[in-house]
Amino acid sequence: MTSALKMGLEGRIAALIAAQGPITVAQFMTMALHDAEGGYYATRDPLGRDFTTAPEISQMFGEMLGLWCAAAWRDQGCPKNPMLVELGPGRGSLMADALRALRAQKALPDFCDGLELVMVEASPVLRALQEKALANANVNIRWATHFDDSMAQRPLFVLANEFFDALPIRQFVRTARGWCERMVTQAGGKLAFALAPLVTPPSLIPKADAPDGGVHEVSASSTALAGEIARVIAAKGGAALFLDYGHGEAAGHGETLQAIGGGGFADVLAQPGAQDITAHVDFAALADAARHAGAAVHGPLGQGAFLNRLGMGARAQQLATANPNAAADVQAALARLTSPAQMGELFKALAILPPSAPTPPGFA
Ligand code: SAH
Repeated sequence: MTSALKMGLEGRIAALIAAQGPITVAQFMTMALHDAEGGYYATRDPLGRDFTTAPEISQMFGEMLGLWCAAAWRDQGCPKNPMLVELGPGRGSLMADALRALRAQKALPDFCDGLELVMVEASPVLRALQEKALANANVNIRWATHFDDSMAQRPLFVLANEFFDALPIRQFVRTARGWCERMVTQAGGKLAFALAPLVTPPSLIPKADAPDGGVHEVSASSTALAGEIARVIAAKGGAALFLDYGHGEAAGHGETLQAIGGGGFADVLAQPGAQDITAHVDFAALADAARHAGAAVHGPLGQGAFLNRLGMGARAQQLATANPNAAADVQAALARLTSPAQMGELFKALAILPPSAPTPPGFA
């Protein structure tokens, strides 16, 4: 008999299904993305290969986000010893740009003074790239694989770009019998979707009305994390800023689970570990969780409107003037990040602050 560890990831998922029965979409996503031997993030740097992200498009993105944190910190009276956490920092570009901008601005007291920076990263490959990107950052940094209680003791500032879209979701499908969970099983030697035979208790699905075939997606790890962060911010002060693609109003009934690999959209169940799997972020669910935890929520707001209000246009001008050879590239990056036809509207920004704090920059 072949040992499960010697199999590829697909074989190990099949062995798990054979042993325990069909698994949830969330379990499948977790294995496909994070399995230590074959998971997509665990084993590679996907950025610039399968997809690119705002911090990789332009240094202006991280600069704006760093200054946003410092402004929210100043608005709350510059509390001593803040903690800054980035969730899923990719190559570390956003944070390198943010810290450089924070060090360069002289108008505010220094946010980096007494700052502890925590990079929350599950992937050893990406962590190594982040260590390199921040080698000369000259702040107190540590790495963690999860958000935990050690981040709950001080005024807390959190940045997360394209992080929540990678957190696992479960899917429920409306049928004549009621809502049934979509599971991953195997059929004919291949992984396949199948509906759970038992109906999901209606209390687990907030919106009862949906046409047959309608899909409801739930990311319990996303709402739990947003709630935990909001609880700390409400108690200790601070601010969180989540940017991602997703829906703002209560989500509809379409499915948003998608895989990207080999240069385009791919079958979600094909080649687990070789392609990125994400879902649209349900901002309304994150906002509800944060309010429930006692924090105030601002947005969601289109990324374009948010970045424009923070002054990204002026920053682009400044960079173009300083380096005329790069002017066209800077303008193209600005358009890509802010124009409604590109990333300006599908991508959204959501902020979480203490109820007593003023509206943060960009949201008023
Ligand atoms: N923020 C970066 C990278 C986005 S890709 C950018 O904008 O370029 C998603 C990032 O989240 C990667 O760094 C990935 O390894 C990390 N990640 C995904 N799921 C995670 C989890 N459950 N815990 C910690 N990090 C995770």
